[in-house]
Amino acid sequence: MNRDGHFKIKEKDNLKYLVFEKWEADTELIHCFTTRHGGVSTGCLESLNLGFNRGDIHENVMQNYQSVCDVLKVDLKSVVLSKQVHDTNIIKVELEDAGNGIFYNSKWESADGMYTSQPNITLVTHYADCVPLLFYAPGYSIIGMTHAGWRGTVKGIAGSLVDRWVRKERIPLDAIQVVIGPSIGECCFEVGKEVADAFVTAFSEQSFIKCNSLADKYSIDLWQCNKHILIKSGIKEENIFITSLCTSCNEDLFFSHRKSNGARGTLGAFMALRSVGDE
Ligand SMILES: [Zn+2]
Repeated sequence: MNRDGHFKIKEKDNLKYLVFEKWEADTELIHCFTTRHGGVSTGCLESLNLGFNRGDIHENVMQNYQSVCDVLKVDLKSVVLSKQVHDTNIIKVELEDAGNGIFYNSKWESADGMYTSQPNITLVTHYADCVPLLFYAPGYSIIGMTHAGWRGTVKGIAGSLVDRWVRKERIPLDAIQVVIGPSIGECCFEVGKEVADAFVTAFSEQSFIKCNSLADKYSIDLWQCNKHILIKSGIKEENIFITSLCTSCNEDLFFSHRKSNGARGTLGAFMALRSVGDE
């Protein structure tokens, strides 16, 4: 599917979703990144919209969540939604948080990053161009995700999660694997000088920021920026996997905020630990 051959699109009950093959083979882990296909939403939200804030019918969004949960064989009641405000706050999710943001208003004001060691919790973060980072340490029963738009990337949220796992959870750095999911690529992420300057300040490695000859515009490689953050945090390069799928170039497959001028649904990254005794 992508140039590294690590990822594939699966289809089940009309629902199309992306998986990382190495994790797909792991019996402890459940994960996927959704596409726009397989839901009941209509119009510009067609069809697997997972955003309650997109003007969709509430029942449609709930049905879409149910469909993804059915395919993954997880309980809808185990879903925990992030609260994405483009910051670096990381929440450790416990069993009592099940249903956050879906069955009741989010108890957190800021949660662009979440992780858990609890089976029977399904973490979900939301995207439509921003960068999904999925974390897993095989053998340590821990999963996590961070949402990194350009602000979260500049603020280094990926590093915040790694620090948290190492300091508080005692996870060895070389055990941590990270998938960088579908998001807007360097091909389509063109920004003005103000945003480019924020990247220049944050990253000494300037090859991630290319100046386009026309009209003072710059192209930013968010995938390489986040990979750089992870390597600086101590993650081994061979444990970082980039999907290399641009949401804006693949509007037939994904929702893209930029490509659609904001008239779009919301994609989701899902992760859960399978409890002992499950199939
Ligand atoms: Zn593109």
